[in-house]
Amino acid sequence: MNAAIFTALFVTALAISLAAKLWLARRQMRFVAAHRASVPAEFADHVALAAHQKAADYTVARTRFGVVETGVEALLLLALTLGGGLGALVAWTGSLGFGPLIADLALIVAVALIAGAVGLPFSYVNTFGIEARFGFNRTTRATWVSDIAKSVAVAAVLGLPLAALVLWLMSAAGPYWWLWAWLAWIAFQALVLALYPTVIAPLFNKFSPLPEGPARKAIEALLARCGFANKGLFVMDGSRRSSHGNAFFTGFGRAKRIVFFDTLLARLAPEEIEAVLAHELGHFRLHHVLKRMMWSAALGLFFLGLLALLASAAWFYEGLGVPASPTRPGVALILFFLALPVFTFMLAPLSSLYSRRHEFEADAFAAKNASAAALVHALVKLYEDNASTLTPDPIYSAVYDSHPPAALRIARLRT
Ligand SMILES: [Zn+2]
Repeated sequence: MNAAIFTALFVTALAISLAAKLWLARRQMRFVAAHRASVPAEFADHVALAAHQKAADYTVARTRFGVVETGVEALLLLALTLGGGLGALVAWTGSLGFGPLIADLALIVAVALIAGAVGLPFSYVNTFGIEARFGFNRTTRATWVSDIAKSVAVAAVLGLPLAALVLWLMSAAGPYWWLWAWLAWIAFQALVLALYPTVIAPLFNKFSPLPEGPARKAIEALLARCGFANKGLFVMDGSRRSSHGNAFFTGFGRAKRIVFFDTLLARLAPEEIEAVLAHELGHFRLHHVLKRMMWSAALGLFFLGLLALLASAAWFYEGLGVPASPTRPGVALILFFLALPVFTFMLAPLSSLYSRRHEFEADAFAAKNASAAALVHALVKLYEDNASTLTPDPIYSAVYDSHPPAALRIARLRT
């Protein structure tokens, strides 16, 4: 491989992934608009035309906004790599008089700040433009700003030590540094999982015990029936930020917590909440969570091994517009994570397919352990509340959607 060939490969892969994203977005917007006039027959009894049209308009608005964001991200990537941005940052951080480790940390912080600054306007317009226009946003500007400040603080407290450790391993741990870095990364993820429910999540939301009542009774009966150990049932004040609803688990082993958004509890009947929880329990019982973690660990090992190979190849740096910098492992690290998504985009359909299979399995689990009819009712309400389109373009959905289209899920639950 030489640098010019790698540049050509990179530019081609970027052009293909951009073209694919634009083509998919266009298909999605056209398909949704073409099905806007009437509610699909199988939902006609449950979904009002106004709600269906709101979902169509919301989907089109978000997809169009996503196109702009995709374009800006591609420009940023080109500016940092072939445009010489990263090369300039490498030279600048190298000239500050620090050792290579601190210079590389400064480089990582600089790139993260630039990417964050480019992403901020999109977050702002998404929250106070699109979400507000469709009546979902409940965040104030003060909360939005304080969320950003807290996220940056959490990322710095957790991320900088990990980055420093990995950089040190890259320069000091010999040819198998990537195995050690992989172990460090696994340990880091376990630490974040352990800290998330009790330390990180409460920085952003209030968690209170699920109050007594018919919903709690139904949930406790379901948990007993499925033999599911947990460390408590909680309500989260999701309504502080958005009217979108959700339910999820945090923590691991017996320390699992089950968390419901207050918006979900307010909207669903007790047997519907039970059915939604049964679906989530299905993900645990059928080991979907564990399988996903194993996949991510295996891929992490593969990619770190690949990074180890690339970090010693001059064409990798030069092909991406940066002078080869063997004494600055941070450069290889950043280039790798910048360029990787361009090449892995073509795997998105596979990962979506895998996820959709799990969703069907969890639905089947819920149908067996709770009520399939109640899950159908809950899904219809959730689709309506989240203004998720009932008529996605089939190809767009196959590439991106982690959940099967509503019509397919509901058809299976009804059989
Ligand atoms: Zn699910």
